[in-house]
This record gives sequence, structure tokens and C-alpha cells, in this order.
Amino acid sequence: MHTQDHEPDHDHQVVPPDPALRTKALESLLVEKGIVDPKALDALVDAYENKIGPRNGARVVARTWVDAAYRKRLLAVPGAAIAELGYEETQGEHMVVVENTAKVHNLVVCTLCSCYPWPVLGLPPVWYKSAPYRSRAVIDPRGVMREFGLELAEDVEVRVWDSTAEIRYLVLPERPAGTETWTEEELAALVSRDSMIGVVKVSATSGGKA
Ligand code: FE
Repeated sequence: MHTQDHEPDHDHQVVPPDPALRTKALESLLVEKGIVDPKALDALVDAYENKIGPRNGARVVARTWVDAAYRKRLLAVPGAAIAELGYEETQGEHMVVVENTAKVHNLVVCTLCSCYPWPVLGLPPVWYKSAPYRSRAVIDPRGVMREFGLELAEDVEVRVWDSTAEIRYLVLPERPAGTETWTEEELAALVSRDSMIGVVKVSATSGGKA
């Protein structure tokens, strides 16, 4: 776009400063040149966001439910315990695992941008990166959880963890009642991405999709 009306700075904004816009522009170019298939790209993003990513975390959580020694190791030295299951360690970021109990519920946010424990959860969902979640998770965590269908009792303490480039948090949900005889694999299938961010709990009837 060319304009004669000179507004300071605008002439220099040839490329949109927003990373999402830049990515979109790059994607469009790659598709236009026939270098990538948009369907393949969508499938890839879906895999990291919904399938591969969160399944790693789900397996970590399920292991803690059947193996008390592993649970201890995960809480003490998260990076090493996660690597035990074959998942790559974060690159310099420190992983912290926060444990939900009957009296404490943990919620993870990145108020600054979108820091996320990607080796165990994959790509963050869109809502995690949204401005409303980033601010409201801190101001009104119970209200946010209510929107996800989780109503916490008044006597449960809510702890909100603000992720940074250096520290990534993973919520360790409580093992749901009624799953005492379940296998590790069956348990892993119950653990949703959202339960490891802390916006919901795991129940014996919850699916592992989101
Ligand atoms: Fe961030």
C-alpha cells in the first residue's frame, strides 16, 4: 500500500510486526510456491497440538499414578524423570511439576506471552495464548476454571504459576476415584491436556482429547 499522507513510522512498517501475521505470510508464500501442502501443515499442527504433544505428558502423569518411586523422582528432578520415558529434555528451561491434592489446585499461565512445557504438552492451545486467559488466570482463576466446567470447593487453595522462558510448569493431576484397577495405558488415555494446564480435573469419564 502506498500513501502520500505521511504519518510518522508507518512508512517503515513494511512487514507486519505481529509474529502470527509474519508466520501466516510465510505460510501463504510456501503454499503459493507449491512448497508445502496446506492440508499437510494443518495435520502437522493438529498432531502437535492434540495428539503427540499432550500424550507425552499424559504418559508421564499415568506413570506417577502407578509407580510411587517415579512420582517422587518426577517431583524432585522433573527433567530427568521425563527423559526417562524417552521424551526430550527442554533446552535450558527448567521444568517444575506442581502436584494437585484434595486441598491444593494448581493452574499454569504465561502472563507475558505463551511459555509452555512443550516437550510434554506439545503446542499451546489458542486460548492459552490469548490475552483474556493470560490476565484472567491471575485475577480470577476460579472464574476461568468455572468456564472450563470446573467448580472448586471454597476450601481448596488455588495456586497460579506464571511460566517464563526459564521455568515451565506441568500440573500433576490427582488420580481419579474408581480407577484403582486400571492399567497405566488406560489411565494415560484419561489424562487431558487441559488437566495438565490445570483448567480441569481428570475424571474416570474424561476423555484424553483436549
Ligand atoms: Fe511466555
